Amino acid sequence: VGELRLIEAIRATLGAPGERVVRWSGDDAAVVRARPFAVTSIDTVADGVHFDLTTHSPADVGHKALATALSDLAAMGADPGEAYVSLALPEGFDEAAALEIAHGIAALAAATGTTVAGGDVIAAGSLVIAISVTGWADAEERLVAREGAAPGEVIGVTGALGASSAGLLALHERPAGLEPAIAAALAARHRRPAPRLSAGHALATAGATAMIDLSDGLATDARHLARASGVRLEVDTGTLPIAPGVAELANATNRDARTLAVAGGEDYELLFTIPADRWETAASAAGIPLTRLGRVLEGDGLAFTGPDAADLDPLRGYEHA
Ligand SMILES: [Mg+2]
Repeated sequence: VGELRLIEAIRATLGAPGERVVRWSGDDAAVVRARPFAVTSIDTVADGVHFDLTTHSPADVGHKALATALSDLAAMGADPGEAYVSLALPEGFDEAAALEIAHGIAALAAATGTTVAGGDVIAAGSLVIAISVTGWADAEERLVAREGAAPGEVIGVTGALGASSAGLLALHERPAGLEPAIAAALAARHRRPAPRLSAGHALATAGATAMIDLSDGLATDARHLARASGVRLEVDTGTLPIAPGVAELANATNRDARTLAVAGGEDYELLFTIPADRWETAASAAGIPLTRLGRVLEGDGLAFTGPDAADLDPLRGYEHA
């Protein structure tokens, strides 16, 4: 009975469904008017693994769970569509907190034009949220995979890097030398990542040839893209867009800001490749600053060039010479 009441209360937070959605939460299954290409991804986040309820509010957790799933749609250049949410709650989990999770999901769904079209709530040993998202495209060419990068193209990234990992450190280490306003801004970036959906769509339209969202950090995700495309990515460390506050956090904790920008995960910016003559078109359409990081070469793996590039070499992972 409690579960049914909770589901009713959650449904009330979700607002009206989008125009595509014919049947949704409350029926046996969702029914959606399809566009030609469905783009689907699932993400699961677990308490103590992907978030920590001592540093994240339940609404933060809901936001983050949906944001990580939507980020994968952004990396394909797809338009956001529907989300399906499975909420596993430990016994005795506060009902108001469960509703707050739903509010966090609903707010990001509304902000991105996503309909939460279905889901379920189950009892489990610990808090786990699994969110499956479907995005849409009208033609296969409007979607961008990881495998299309070609030698001669340039590498770009949206936004700025390092804020999420710096925010995590600010939350856990509370460095005395860091201004509270900077610590709060970094923590907000960690708790509430923004999926780059409109930038992803714009980059796909502008001619990006390969794209990936930065969930594990530039050093790791760039290698995924390089491997899928069969190319070498050369990143100039002097061009790295280091997010505001990261240098201050690095100073206060005796770390290297560039290392946080390169190796820190969960920024959810988009890394992409594009022919150089498409850059200006992409930059004016993206709706967020783009930074040109380097170039695509023949070969494999990730290489750093520029000032003190050798310092970052350990982050490139193992590769054959
Ligand atoms: Mg991804």
